[in-house]
Amino acid sequence: MDRKRRISIIGSTGSIGTQALEVIEKLQDKFEIIALAGGNNIELLKQQAEKFKPKYIYAQKHIKIDGIRTLESLDEIAQNQENDIILVACSGKIGLRPTLKAIENGIDIALANKETLVMAGDIVMKKAKENGVKIIPVDSEHCAIHQCIKDISQVEKLIITASGGPFLHKSIEEMKTATVKEALAHPRWNMGRKITVDSATLMNKGLEIIEAHHLFGMDYDDIDVVVHPQSIVHSAIEYKDGSVIAQLGLPSMHIPIQYAISYPERFEGIKSKSFSFSEIARLDFEKPDFEKFPTVKLAYKAGKIGGSATACLNAANEEAVFAFLDGKINLYQIYEITKEIFDNHKVIQNPTIDEIFEVDEKIRLQTKELIEKITQK
Ligand code: MG
Repeated sequence: MDRKRRISIIGSTGSIGTQALEVIEKLQDKFEIIALAGGNNIELLKQQAEKFKPKYIYAQKHIKIDGIRTLESLDEIAQNQENDIILVACSGKIGLRPTLKAIENGIDIALANKETLVMAGDIVMKKAKENGVKIIPVDSEHCAIHQCIKDISQVEKLIITASGGPFLHKSIEEMKTATVKEALAHPRWNMGRKITVDSATLMNKGLEIIEAHHLFGMDYDDIDVVVHPQSIVHSAIEYKDGSVIAQLGLPSMHIPIQYAISYPERFEGIKSKSFSFSEIARLDFEKPDFEKFPTVKLAYKAGKIGGSATACLNAANEEAVFAFLDGKINLYQIYEITKEIFDNHKVIQNPTIDEIFEVDEKIRLQTKELIEKITQK
């Protein structure tokens, strides 16, 4: 592309959004920012807008900046044909509708929002195909697989790596008494609070299996998880002929972010340090302990059932994570609560988007009620 690539960021004040702006700051000759959208951190959004001078801005609260047009909704960003690509960097279900709208408008997506595929992967991928839209994953594992795959029809299986989080070699008892601070102390990655708790229970890996299924069209039985504590191998694929291709790099989200927004080119944005095998010295791998981390099995089950099952899993887990962060339940109860809600869910096959949102709301209510019941005992 001769001209600058025109990008909007939904969720610019979050963990991925701020790191994306660090990348773009280094690549100012490559990118022009069309719109920035943030949630409630108005101060940070204002600072970003003053620095990066987007044409438009959107926030959930009232915001006004001289010389920048304030938008009324995220849909206005998603419909804007000035965009070459939209980075969906927000977390939560709020990312789903604007992503679908952008796809309908033929705009490519750099996707960091897990809920989009976990809640509605079938609908999103079908629409992307119909509209010739590229969905480039930002999640480091999927970004790794995206980089390894040449021809998906020749791939035997996907191998997703998991760092194992802070409780990898701790007992279930220790998980039950873990503080929020301990759960948020991820040994390798610097991420938002919700996803860090998901990494501690390994539900994050479960959600990533579902994402991988949709992104690459692989059967769940052909998606493996391996624990790799150093987080250097970001994932791998095995071809039918036995060749295994992995993508490696230092654990920094800057790399997958700049890959996704630059694709199919590769720009030199932020590269803190050159990679050295000898400095890393060793790479360890082990089987995940599904007894201690049953969330992964639950995610496989939800994925295989399909329909509204994954939206249910996502909503129940998220509400349980919030309850943990509020100090209401322990870390292990996140799984127990999610499982109970999941087991009682009547799955809708081939749900519409509206039905998915209805399931999401209903499940959140049920989960909150269950948590109330448990904590009142
Ligand atoms: Mg990941």
